[in-house]
Amino acid sequence: CYILAVETSCDETSAAVVKNGTEVMSNLIASQIETHKAFGGVVPEVASRKHVENITLMLDEAIRQAEIEPDQLSAIAVTEGPGLVGALLVGIMAAKSLAFALDKLLIGTHHIAGHIYANRLVQPIEYPCMALVVSGGHTELVLMEREGSFQLIGQTRDDAVGEAYDKVARALGFPYPGGPHVDKLALEAAESEHLPRAWLEPDSYDFSFSGLKSAVLNTVNQHKMRGEEGYQAAIARGFQESVIEVLVEKAIRAVRATGAKQLLLSGGVAANRGLRASLAERCASEKIALVIPPFKYCTDNAAMIGAAAYLKWKQGSFSDLELKADPSLSLEEWL
Ligand code: ATP
Ligand code: MG
Ligand code: FE
Repeated sequence: CYILAVETSCDETSAAVVKNGTEVMSNLIASQIETHKAFGGVVPEVASRKHVENITLMLDEAIRQAEIEPDQLSAIAVTEGPGLVGALLVGIMAAKSLAFALDKLLIGTHHIAGHIYANRLVQPIEYPCMALVVSGGHTELVLMEREGSFQLIGQTRDDAVGEAYDKVARALGFPYPGGPHVDKLALEAAESEHLPRAWLEPDSYDFSFSGLKSAVLNTVNQHKMRGEEGYQAAIARGFQESVIEVLVEKAIRAVRATGAKQLLLSGGVAANRGLRASLAERCASEKIALVIPPFKYCTDNAAMIGAAAYLKWKQGSFSDLELKADPSLSLEEWL
């Protein structure tokens, strides 16, 4: 089964061919980061326009690099949500047109299911398992009792981790997207500025990062008012330590409480080196099987969409040409 997958939910235009939901034959990504940098974040209108410019070339290249004929495709998968509605629409229109022209099946796919199933590109998944989703718009603990079942047991009550990283990065003087800059600075820092941790209620799996973000902004302002310099590294490290401690602790507790056989890390912030290292260390000492996608499958890409779409392919559940973009598509109800 060859699935051609399309991802345009935010600021990456991506197309991939994935065989049997596990083998990446090609994975093309056109990032719009350079375009959006000037604005300090993603501008939806600009994102849509850029997707339109890039999508056709991405699709052609994905098929060409996979070294298959369009005829050999089994289905065309596309992210239907969540994401920016105008950005999603570009991918959906392209996927529909191609499905119609080539007479192929169409599979509407959930973006976060994609982030989670990026782990299937690494190794088989054992159920029940727990996914820690950390991305630009989501911070969730998802229990998967069996393939295709998604149960949200915790989520952020305010900012997503990636969003907090990007805002903190901006306060420290880094361009969008700031996550990787904060990660690097934190790992190089000699000292750490202590910042609060938001544990919420003792039994809660929810998260909150807006208090931490405000604490960072206040600390930055205090340093600025005192005319100090070179304070950024200690703040980056303190921020990263606070984020990681809470994420790791809650994820481990969720695994223990549910008897999950694996912990899957997913989403753009899964590229964070500090988080990867801390989780690996804790999981090793607690004898929990941890799966982490390679860096290239952490941030937005179409290969992960091909991996998730394979679930629907196996179920024989397909979309028709009425498929619509759904900016707030529910993960629990997707399959
Ligand atoms: P969502 O997946 O929730 O719809 P999104 O698709 O915009 O949101 P992703 O592409 O999954 O988000 O992830 C992008 C986010 O990951 C950005 O906020 C970025 O700063 C963050 N990120 C990327 N690399 C790192 C890193 N090394 N450390 C921390 N954050 C990172
Ligand atoms: Mg992005
Ligand atoms: Fe994403």
